[in-house]
Order: sequence, then C-alpha cells, then structure tokens
Amino acid sequence: DVQLSDRVNSIKPSPTLAVTKRAAELKASGKNIIGLGAGEPDFDTPEHIKQAAIKAINDGFTKYTAVDGTPSLKKAIIAKFNRDNGLNYEPNQILVSSGGKQSFFNLALALLNSGDEAIIPAPYWVSYPDMVLIADAKPVIIETTQAARFKITPEQLENAITEKTRLVVLNSPSNPSGVAYTLEELKALGEVLKRYPNILVATDDMYEHILFGDEPFCNILNACPELYDQTIVLNGVSKAYSMTGWRIGYAAGPAWLIGAMTKVQSQSTSNPCSIAQVAAEAALNGDQNCVAEMVKAFKARHEFVVNALNEIEGVDCIPADGTFYAFPSFHKVIDSRPEFADDIALAEYLLLETGVALVPGSAFGAPGNMRLSFATSMDILEDAISRIKKALS
Ligand code: PLP
Repeated sequence: DVQLSDRVNSIKPSPTLAVTKRAAELKASGKNIIGLGAGEPDFDTPEHIKQAAIKAINDGFTKYTAVDGTPSLKKAIIAKFNRDNGLNYEPNQILVSSGGKQSFFNLALALLNSGDEAIIPAPYWVSYPDMVLIADAKPVIIETTQAARFKITPEQLENAITEKTRLVVLNSPSNPSGVAYTLEELKALGEVLKRYPNILVATDDMYEHILFGDEPFCNILNACPELYDQTIVLNGVSKAYSMTGWRIGYAAGPAWLIGAMTKVQSQSTSNPCSIAQVAAEAALNGDQNCVAEMVKAFKARHEFVVNALNEIEGVDCIPADGTFYAFPSFHKVIDSRPEFADDIALAEYLLLETGVALVPGSAFGAPGNMRLSFATSMDILEDAISRIKKALS
C-alpha cells in the first residue's frame, strides 16, 4: 500500500482549530454553542486598514512581490521595531511571511537538523512542538506550575540545555497562560543563554500590544542586548490589529538566518499576499488608537472572567498580564469527580452539557487547566461562565 511519511505521522492537527471546528459543527446542527476556543480577536479589522487593501486592489497591486516582503512593508516593520522595541534592523534582517505561523515554520526548517533539540516551556502555543517535529527535531518541554505563574526559572533553563540544544522558544505574553516575563526575569534567563552562543533564541512577541498593566512590553533583547546575534524576534499583525485572516507575520534576526528562512519560503509559498502586505503596512504605519481600544475591552473582560471563574467551586484562575486568554485550573474539579478522567473528558462534558467550548490544557502541555478565550462580548462571557458554574455545582 501507499504509505504516509513518518514526518506527517509524527504530528497532530492543531487542537485549537479542532475545538473551533467541533463547536461550529455542533452549532450548525442546531445546538446552542458558545465557542471560547478560538485564538482571535472578535473585533473587525479597523477601517483604515481595510481601505488600504481596497485601494491596493483597485491600483492593481495584485501580482507577485519580493519573496521576503515589499520594500515598503519592510520599512514599516523596521520603523515599528525601532519605535516600539528600541531594536535596529536592516532590510536583509526582515522576512515577511503568511502569518506568524509560517515564520516559525520557516525557522524550524532552516535551523533544525534531525536529532536537534528545541526547548519549549509549557504551557506552550500548540504549534511549536509539532513544527519542531516536522523539522525532524526533538521538542524538549520545560514544565512550569501555576504557583510559579507558568514561568521557567534560569535553573530550569540551564538543566534543559544539552549539547544538542539548538533553539529556545520564549513567548511573552503567553498563549495560553496570558502571563508575561518581567525585564528582571528575562535578564536572568538571558544570563544563562549568553553562555551558549550556539543556541538560537526565538522570542514570539505576537501578543506584545495586549498588555493590561503599566509596565511597558519587553522581550529578551531589551533585557539582554548582547543576545542580538543569536536572537530572532517573531511578530505579526494578526492579534494586535484583528487581522488573523489576512495572514501576515514577520521575523527579524541575523541576516544569515533570515536569508535561509527566505530560501525555505521561496520554495514553498513565495511572497505573502500582496494585498494583505499593503494592509499590514497601513496597520503598522497608521494611528495606533485602534489597538488601545481593543486592549481596553480585553482588560475589562479579563477582570470579569478571572473573578467569575474564581467564584466557581474547584476552579482557580490567576490573573493574566495580557492576551485575551484566561487559563484556569480545573485540577480540583477533576480530582474530586471520578466521572472526569482528565481535562479532555471535562472539556467534552462542558461542551455537550453546557454548550461552552474550551480548549483542554493538555493541548498546551498543561493538563488540568483549560484555555478560555475572552475575545467575545461581555454578555456571552457572563452566559458561558454561569453555564459552567451551574453544570459543576
Ligand atoms: N504565536 C502565537 C503565540 C500565537 O498564539 C499565534 C496564533 O495563534 C501565532 C504565533 C501565529 O499567528 P498568525 O499565524 O495568525 O500570525
């Protein structure tokens, strides 16, 4: 018989997309479903961004562009790094891709050899381990606890490093936990990483703008500028500007690595959508008030969701620093109720019994917790949490 590759057999479909699909199917069959599984803002893409794209179509900007992105979008990205992050890059250090997801995919294929190790702190974005597996490398997961606010310590990092380690992935604020590392914490991790110049650090700053506190955003390069030559910054417009469907992400890092990632992209998808690139440029160069308005709504919902979840017996939710996710622990519920074998069984029960779709924490390497996306209206959130409360009491 014709067989599939070991490569594809080593990975699973994205569990978050699977939950979203399952909820949509149940909804289509007439069930009253509240989907809190999706990882995207509920707002429309801001008007000035849409208008820029419409103009691009009318101007006939509908052909191939440079594989690595248009010069003017790269200019906007370079200006953004300078303005928001105090980081300086040349055009040959920037690669624009079809979403942040493709940026990481290019990175894994360009960097990792068979048997190489990539260190990924849990809970993690669902795609990191599988993309490392596609590259035939080995994900090395560092476990964290809710008591430690789901953050790794320098000791844990040091202990996970071997001579096979090629990549360390940091994601702050984090999907799914919502927690962000402080500058001091990043400094301490940077002290470890500085001693391993053959390890590449990937900082995924996708949720940079969705922060609730007064502290400004920081990444490992702000904490440890000496790591510049061994760090790649991943970012994109999906979450900040409510542009998930436009598929624009970007990466900035050493020219040799960006060049190799560009080569991978040139033999897979070529340039990202020309029209979406114009839209992304308008987003980065335009008025940033639209971001602040969305963050304000997320902040209010976050406060409501964390308080309401903590009022449910057996549920324990730490406040997040940012993103639009809460990551409550249901350990006590699972441990005290034999009918729930694990978080997957509990998520299934909640979906069928209450119609609320959450993503089980095991999808993110943190079984016993659940990811709840609050990228939906306050009314819907109130309804969802009262349904969960009723079903569990
Ligand atoms: N990185 C993180 C942490 C994410 O949560 C996501 C989306 O869920 C991405 C990257 C990729 O986003 P996109 O491919 O839409 O740019």
